[in-house]
Amino acid sequence: MKFTAYDNLPCPIFIADPNGRLTYVNHAWREYLGSESGELWTKPFDDVQQTDLRHAWKNCCEADESFTITSKVSSASGIRWYDIQCQAIDRDEAGEMGVLGTLQDVTAQTLVTAATLAILDTAVDAIIIIDQDGIIDTFNQAAVEMFGYQTDEIIGQSVTKLMPEPHRSQHEVYIERYLATGNKKIIGIGRELEAVDKAGNKIPIHLAVSEIDIEGQRRFTGIIRDLSEQRADREALAEHRQRLAHVDRLSSMGEMTASIAHEINQPLTAISMYAQAGIKLIERGNTDLEKLQSALDKLNTQSLRAGAVIERIQRFARAQESQREIMDVNELVIDLVKLTESDARLHDIELVLDLGEALPTRFGDPIQIQQVALNLIRNAIDAMNEIHCANGRSITIRTRLAPQDLIVVSVSDLGPGVAEEQADLVFTPFHTTKKDGMGMGLSICRSIIAEHGGSIDFYNNDDAGATFFFNLPEVSTDE
Ligand code: ADP
Repeated sequence: MKFTAYDNLPCPIFIADPNGRLTYVNHAWREYLGSESGELWTKPFDDVQQTDLRHAWKNCCEADESFTITSKVSSASGIRWYDIQCQAIDRDEAGEMGVLGTLQDVTAQTLVTAATLAILDTAVDAIIIIDQDGIIDTFNQAAVEMFGYQTDEIIGQSVTKLMPEPHRSQHEVYIERYLATGNKKIIGIGRELEAVDKAGNKIPIHLAVSEIDIEGQRRFTGIIRDLSEQRADREALAEHRQRLAHVDRLSSMGEMTASIAHEINQPLTAISMYAQAGIKLIERGNTDLEKLQSALDKLNTQSLRAGAVIERIQRFARAQESQREIMDVNELVIDLVKLTESDARLHDIELVLDLGEALPTRFGDPIQIQQVALNLIRNAIDAMNEIHCANGRSITIRTRLAPQDLIVVSVSDLGPGVAEEQADLVFTPFHTTKKDGMGMGLSICRSIIAEHGGSIDFYNNDDAGATFFFNLPEVSTDE
């Protein structure tokens, strides 16, 4: 028999006549597939329909056109998948044509592919695979739900369809630049970006890209997480913090009412005095214009002074959205001291300013930073009111440039200092040692400073009192 050479090959092999009946099977075929000569070759395969194959089979025998199908066999040891390669063959000495089939076991690859597809479609994150021209070749179920495209309408399209400008027009350049330089801007790093869904809505996303190389063919896999909910939570939290901070500012202003009233009363009293002097000059028929002008000038200065106090209070008490801008920290401190000086004076305390020179600017919300400094100064005043201060009655507000380009603002008092058992608690919300304290001040300060990328802490001074300080690092202005 001329095909005995196939007998001991490890892969199943068959030869069938033009009607699909087996005329020869090797040992491996018999062992794995259990069918014999004379039967239809498709018998072991669960999913091969004789009718579907008729055309390919005929073409193979008559026109020598080979074909391949993948099919599965259920056996006692489980399901196995085979690639079946069929080609025309001279079946016997009489020259009658038939089909030679060689089978390759692809069970392992098929299972891996099936598992990969299952993982892709059960993944919570959207997974998109593109080729190096940016053409989408895989779009999982989560991506369908996130972007609103069905797989058949998006596969084969450019991934730029899912990007807003300027990334849409730049994407080709990004890929080209990466392929040319190998310089990774996003691959393996992950970034927060915006995507666009089918309806044109922008979605905040986190995108992580990895690169795969399949036999020289590059592919990029993007794993995309929808950040809409996270972003909304973050915004709600920030809004909540802002409201809390505003309440804290109003409460500080409330506590300072007496000193603020005093601060405004002074220029108002002066205004009234200069106005009366002016009236008297006129009543007396004194037409000394120089004296009159001097009274009016002073009157003007005092009304501007009162106006400045009110303006400062208004600015501070306004409920506004956090507004970040370039800040000169020394200027902020000077302005704040003007607001609190009279309160300190009322308690017989002097505010001493010790400002560092040539400090760089910072980017942040000036009102919030002033609020933090105000909290520290008011706590210092409270602390000094608790005891008889043997070392004098002054609070020093210091600004310095520290290593790592940090600007440090500190407030040192001469009060009792922070008791050891309180040390871990002072920044905890609602912790207070004061009779009518709220215990929110320092915890609000901590979140404001954290939002500015800095930190806040304290130490007890060697001689007397405590120093509370916060630092502000340089942050990027394009947030
Ligand atoms: P409140 O001022 O309403 O108590 P804070 O959060 O501002 O709330 O302060 C919490 C606690 O920290 C204060 O009650 C006090 O015990 C302590 N503390 C704050 N600043 C100082 C300071 N300069 N010296 C001593 N203790 C302080």
